[in-house]
Amino acid sequence: MLKRKEYRFWFCTGSQDLYGDECLSNVAEHSRAIVEKLNESGMLPYEVVWKPILITNELIRKTFNEANMDEDCAGVITWMHTFSPAKSWILGLQEYRKPLLHLHTQFNMEIPYDTIDMDFMNENQSAHGGREFGHIFSRMGLERKVVVGHWSDKAVQGKIASWMRTAVGVIESSHVRVMRVADNMRNVAVTDGDKVEAQIRFGWEVDAYPVNEIAEAVEDVKAGDVNALVEEYYDTYDILTEGRDPEEFRRHVAVQAQIEIGFERFLEEKGYQAIVTHFGDLGSLKQLPGLAIQRLMQKGYGFGAEGDWKTAAMLRIMKIMTEGVKDAKGTSFMEDYTYNLVPGKEGILQAHMLEVCPTIADGPVSIKVQPLTMGDREDPARLVFTAKEGPAIATSLIDLGDRFRLIINTVHCKKTEKPMPKLPVATAFWTPEPSLQTGAQAWILCGGAHHTAFSYDLSAEQMGDWAEAMGIEAIYIDRDTTIRNLKNELRWNDIAYRK
Ligand code: MN
Repeated sequence: MLKRKEYRFWFCTGSQDLYGDECLSNVAEHSRAIVEKLNESGMLPYEVVWKPILITNELIRKTFNEANMDEDCAGVITWMHTFSPAKSWILGLQEYRKPLLHLHTQFNMEIPYDTIDMDFMNENQSAHGGREFGHIFSRMGLERKVVVGHWSDKAVQGKIASWMRTAVGVIESSHVRVMRVADNMRNVAVTDGDKVEAQIRFGWEVDAYPVNEIAEAVEDVKAGDVNALVEEYYDTYDILTEGRDPEEFRRHVAVQAQIEIGFERFLEEKGYQAIVTHFGDLGSLKQLPGLAIQRLMQKGYGFGAEGDWKTAAMLRIMKIMTEGVKDAKGTSFMEDYTYNLVPGKEGILQAHMLEVCPTIADGPVSIKVQPLTMGDREDPARLVFTAKEGPAIATSLIDLGDRFRLIINTVHCKKTEKPMPKLPVATAFWTPEPSLQTGAQAWILCGGAHHTAFSYDLSAEQMGDWAEAMGIEAIYIDRDTTIRNLKNELRWNDIAYRK
């Protein structure tokens, strides 16, 4: 498994010395209590760290620069307990480079009607201070997340938790390195793009390697290691030989085991967390990596087929963002294949030739060995299953030449009406919001790809916030989408994002 970094978030409280030391010590006490309760809530995926109360320009600037430098800090949560004059924040905010959440809360939930006096109001005036703080962000044109409500409210804590995952996706983006084992598929437009711009914008390193270099790493894997992994496969998955000779079947499976070990060693040795392959450029590999890639995705690697490095990088980021989600339902590379257009039963059958991540599987996962019409190698072994039901998101990052656009479609996964016994690949079936007709029309008008990075465990808002933090365009396709409004949004964005 790819290791999870133990990120932390700093909790910075804004105030001022206008109301005396007693007020400031109350502010400190309140913010410590909030931090303690947030950490105890069990709602947050990462720890919150209390920082001394910020009242001066110098301390604010110093704190934000320390946050920049601290590798474990993935973002800052700010809370304006009292009135904190926002000119004091300008220099610090100008120099700050990580995600920021403005928690617009106050210590008390209810107005203490019987006892409230002017001292209480001066001390507890988030409604006032939070507006001053918000103003300077808007004036400076900076991105931030604003969450409003009492800090003890589970819904508020849930929003902080979601944002933390987005923030980690932002921080981790600049650590994503994609290994291209082959170039983009010939003549395909949407999966290609500007790798230099991607590195400037997202921090991604996207490097090519000759396929036979990684094939050699596969050949170097010892038979003992291969056999041990094949044993693990046979213990873990249902084996569906479907009339093939069991020994011959096992030899085909062993090829994928050897690829899995060889690829993983090569990726680890060279420091990559995402990989692309191409069925048309397999060098001395005996099979198109199928089961092997499915297992690598399950371990947290990003993947894109046919050289699709943008989807590979997005999948890696979404794997990181969902790491440790309780009762996770899965995150996978996916491809739109074929429609069911029967009225009332509309949906898109999702799959790929082989490479769908088993984290999204519902029920048993089987191994099959079947011929593949694409490419010219022996029949590859692959994991076959159907995906879970429920809401999810499908995302596509495209390069429009002058900017990147992230398209985020909320979809509803269902079971197909009947099993598909002759289809030897893992599948999902979903209806996009707001309907197949409008959803697909909107997707096509946006220029979205046939490949997606798909997840049950992230919300459209989390991905939209990620795009915003990256300074790229985000388009949501959901139940509020109408074609008339979407066309205007696209038209206006062409101007808004003009360089
Ligand atoms: Mn494809």
